[in-house]
Formats: sequence, structure tokens, C-alpha cells
Amino acid sequence: MFTVYYRKMSTKSTRTGNILRLVRPAVRKLAAYHVDETPVRIKLDAMENPYVLPHTVRKQIAAVAGNARINLYPDPSAKDLKKAIASLWRMKPEQMILGNGSDELIQTIILAFGGPVLVPVPTFAMYDITSRALAQGVVTAPLDENFDLDADAMIRAAKKSRARLIFLAVPNNPTGNRFSDRAVRAIMERSGAAVVIDEAYYSFSGRTWLAQMKKYPNLIILRTLSKIGFAGLRIGVLTASEEIVNELNKIRLPYNINSLSQAVAVAALEHRDVIDRQIGLLISERQKLYNALSRMPGVVAYPSETNFILIRSKSDATAIHKKLKRSGILVKNLDRPGPLKNCLRVTIGTPEENREFLNKLKTILAADLRR
Ligand code: PMP
Repeated sequence: MFTVYYRKMSTKSTRTGNILRLVRPAVRKLAAYHVDETPVRIKLDAMENPYVLPHTVRKQIAAVAGNARINLYPDPSAKDLKKAIASLWRMKPEQMILGNGSDELIQTIILAFGGPVLVPVPTFAMYDITSRALAQGVVTAPLDENFDLDADAMIRAAKKSRARLIFLAVPNNPTGNRFSDRAVRAIMERSGAAVVIDEAYYSFSGRTWLAQMKKYPNLIILRTLSKIGFAGLRIGVLTASEEIVNELNKIRLPYNINSLSQAVAVAALEHRDVIDRQIGLLISERQKLYNALSRMPGVVAYPSETNFILIRSKSDATAIHKKLKRSGILVKNLDRPGPLKNCLRVTIGTPEENREFLNKLKTILAADLRR
């Protein structure tokens, strides 16, 4: 019995070893994007909108989902949803592509253009991870001490590496600030690369580069429905010139937005008033949270045009993160050597959630200061 078991195990592991050698080295070297799946009471780690839709709207969504023809493939070009988003954000449907989250669109863009891919540091991790997964080189240039772009350094890096693609998250994740218009403009004008401006947090800043698309043919804009209440539907939005959109459409998977997401998003977007009200609440909560954090000894809060705030503690941020988590509050731990040393990122929650986070943080910091 024992022998059989042993032989089985050893055959299996040798086989696995052989198979893994066939996985592309670019993939084997990768570390997966880390998502903390600990169940918590207060989830402030992923820039989700904490509010649910009113009961009447949810009933309408249930009816729409119930009527969806899930026996058929979804509309491959998601016409109705594109129309709804085009009217929400004043875009042209023929200049749009939807993705299974903007994560998928980032992948589509990198597949189409290839690298080298230039990104500022720190920024959203998926630009780097996806480039590497697709075996494309990544070049980085540090942000300055105000977390703004160093346009000259970016342009120099772009030229030197012959970058084909640059990703700029505006406002930036995880720093929360908008890069200065002058720097972004200089990069679009002088880098020689396709420039993706990722406006995932547009709704919380109200500022956009959309009007500049006519002037800059190398501009690609990304948005998402994830931060404004629909993270579970996975709807990302890309808009660019029709020529770029045509190229990208060649490699987009044909049925990338499922029927339920299409139908539910169309129904939900009819309730602009509800969405706008929730965004307004989050913006005013952001101000309150920022003011409270700014007055708190032991942390520095960075100004934000998003639905999160970056904070830097004077004591060990990893320990603070652990203590918060133990009390049922999850924020994102960004603490590692470099520009984000002792940094945590907290998503704006409901007033009650924010209050509880502030109280707990205050208690933890007070205990740290006494030590
Ligand atoms: N871009 C930025 C800047 C982000 O912060 C995020 C989410 N963290 C995304 C894109 C991905 O969003 P989605 O849910 O649309 O894939």
C-alpha cells in the first residue's frame, strides 16, 4: 500500500516538474497580484463603492437579469452598453472598446503595441505585471517628491528605451494625486510613444483628458465602472481614435463582456441620480477623512482626487496594518523599502466605516506613541 502511494506521488511530481519547465520563463518569474481575501467587517482595501443600490433599482436589475438570454452568446460589441456609457461620459461608441474590467483592456493594449512599456513609480501594479506576463520589457522612472511626474526624466527614459507604450494613471493609484497637466502634455508631445491615460478615478476628480483626443492621436483613455459602484460587473472602458480602436478590436476576445453584466450595467446606468449622489457622498467623506487624518499625530495624509487616501505613518505601518486587520478593518498595506515606506492606502467607506477606522487608527497610534 505504502509503495503504491509512494510511486504514485513520485511519478506525479516528476510529471509536474516536466510540465512546469514548459511554462514561459516570463510567467514563472512573476509574482501574482496580491489580493488579501481575509473576511473582514470593514473592507477599505480595494477602492470599492461601499453603497448598494436602492431596493427599487435592485428589483429592476433582478428582472433584467431574469430576462437575459443566457443560452445565447452575448452581443459581441455590447452595443446597448456602449451607448449607455457613451451618453454618461460623452464618448463616441465607434471610438470605444469595453473590457472585462480595465485590467483586460490594459492587457489588450500591451498585446497590440508591445513594449518596452514605460511607467512611473509608484503606480498601479497591473501595468508592470501584465507587461511582464506578456514578456514585454518594463522601464520605470521615479515620480518626484510630490508624487508628480518628472516629465524630462520620463521623456529621456522613453527615448533611450524606445518605449512604445506609456501608462499614466491620472489621478494616480496609490498616491491619489493628479499629475500636473504640463508634464502629461509634454510626455504626449515628446515621448514618441502611445500614451495611455488611465482615468479610473475620474468621477472623484471631475477632470479629464478626453477633450484632448483630437489633438493627440497617440492618446488612449481608460475608464472603469468599478470605482463608482459596479466592481462586480467587471466593465472597463477604452476610448481612442477609430484607427487605434480598429487595431485593438482585432485582438479583443469576441464575447468578453457577458450578457448579465451588459444587461445589468445598462439598467443600473439609467439611475444617474443615484450614482451621482453616492459619488458626492464619497467626495465629502474623503474631505472629512483627510481633515481628520491631517490632524492626527503620527501620520501624514496625502491630498487625494480619488476615492482613497494614502497615508504614511511615523511608526511601523505593517504593524499598524496587522492591528487594524485584527480588529476587522482591512486597508491596503504598501509598506516596503522605497517611496512607499510605511505607507497604507485607505478606501473611502461609509461615514460609519470611516469613523470606526479613524478611531481604531487613533488608538493604535496613541499606544505606539506611548511606547
Ligand atoms: N486602473 C487603475 C489606476 C486602478 O487603480 C485599477 C483598480 N485598482 C484599475 C485600473 C483596474 O480596474 P478594473 O476593476 O476596471 O479592472
